[in-house]
Amino acid sequence: LLIVEQSRGGHWNDAYPYVKLHQPSSYYGVNSRPLGLGKIDQIGLNQGMHELATGAEVSAHFDAVMRERLLPSERVQYLPMHNYEDGVATNLLSGSQIKLTYRQKLVDCRNDGTSIPAKDPPKFEIDEGVRCIPLGELTALSERVDRYTIIGAGKTAMDAVVFLCEQGVDPDRIDWARPREPWILNRRFFQSGYEFFQEKIESAARELEEAAQATSLEGLYEQWERDKIFFRIDPTRAATMFRCPIVSEQELLHLRSVKNVIRLGHIKRIATDKIYFTDGEARCAPNTLHVHCSASGIPVVPKQPIFQDRKIVPQFVRRCQPTFSASVIAHLEAILDTDEAKNAAATPVPMATEPSDWLRFYLLDDKNMNAWREIDGMMEWLASIRLDPNTGTMLRAQEEAQPEMMAAISRVMAARGPAFERVRMLLGEA
Ligand SMILES: Cc1cc2nc3c(=O)[nH]c(=O)nc-3n(C[C@H](O)[C@H](O)[C@H](O)COP(=O)(O)OP(=O)(O)OC[C@H]3O[C@@H](n4cnc5c(N)ncnc54)[C@H](O)[C@@H]3O)c2cc1C
Repeated sequence: LLIVEQSRGGHWNDAYPYVKLHQPSSYYGVNSRPLGLGKIDQIGLNQGMHELATGAEVSAHFDAVMRERLLPSERVQYLPMHNYEDGVATNLLSGSQIKLTYRQKLVDCRNDGTSIPAKDPPKFEIDEGVRCIPLGELTALSERVDRYTIIGAGKTAMDAVVFLCEQGVDPDRIDWARPREPWILNRRFFQSGYEFFQEKIESAARELEEAAQATSLEGLYEQWERDKIFFRIDPTRAATMFRCPIVSEQELLHLRSVKNVIRLGHIKRIATDKIYFTDGEARCAPNTLHVHCSASGIPVVPKQPIFQDRKIVPQFVRRCQPTFSASVIAHLEAILDTDEAKNAAATPVPMATEPSDWLRFYLLDDKNMNAWREIDGMMEWLASIRLDPNTGTMLRAQEEAQPEMMAAISRVMAARGPAFERVRMLLGEA
């Protein structure tokens, strides 16, 4: 196996210093090595829930996989700082080139095009004299700033707001240019492990039962909001954006503490005293620091078959689960013979952009789950891997026949069919 990489470790190396996973560490990393210690946070904004690895911990995890597992196996070679194109790896530092041929398959991971503020400058104009920094540079500030403008409505912007609030910045000194209102998932229901399973499965049952009764997408989300499955930062506004962000209720309090929200569309230009938006203009104080959080994170890219003859193009096969998906794809490659069989078990699930995507994910996840049930040994494998926090826990609950859990599982099973039917109707696919 040869791994060719333009950088040395990917986007986590360039992330802001205070980045953390937004879902528990147990959902992330390579399957064969735990990430974190499986602890429950005792303090902080994630108190009472499973730990969230920092960016440094994620990088250390992948680094350890490379140094302790892959390279010592002597079956893996690693070429960091090499650009791969058309069968040639070019060393970005020395310029030397290696022509590569592969005997078996090319795994092309260039497809998802992660975009982060530290690497991708803002798409708007910035006048001379205006201070605009990527959010990671907030930790390098050494003098007081009068006002901050947070630019963006995604998880990165949320992290910048939470960081400033946690450092004691008065939320009234923050302006938040948030063109759209996002729907946000409650981290409480993203916990792994048996101790959280009852609460999680009950919430899943509620979610499906309400989907089965829904008459509109908006009404359904509002009901889910009453159940605290989803949040809006400002519940008085219609939310039109959904990119799978996950926060805790404590983080949400910080997000809601910022009252100066500018909703004038996307920024076109920042001048020293004014911001020009697609839908208007807003004044800004002279000593304002603008914080760029407007890169697209995980962009939406066109779907394509994952298994393509001598090429594999990894994509999500379960909603919002990149590393679980990578494990499933590797497993299918190992156990199935034809691309046809592999693709039938790996329908790509795109990155979310809008609220209706959550409903589409029900159908796509269900399609993949049904295909996996048909593959010999696949459910046993899923139950055994750490990156699937549900299948093994569900089996344990069934084995132990714990009455409350069994009742909640039965509710999920009963609600699935009607929910999927209603979802198809709401999506106009009936
Ligand atoms: C800030 C942030 C927080 C996130 N938090 C979570 C989370 O909590 N939970 C979760 O599940 N997911 C999270 N994600 C998503 C998840 O990290 C990514 O989807 C996933 O890790 C992407 O990994 P990747 O290897 O595809 O991308 P990258 O890490 O961007 O790696 C792509 C690699 O391809 C290399 N490359 C590109 N072109 C070439 C070329 N021509 N030749 C050679 N190499 C090339 C690059 O150098 C890079 O190393 C987060 C993403 C971001 C941006």
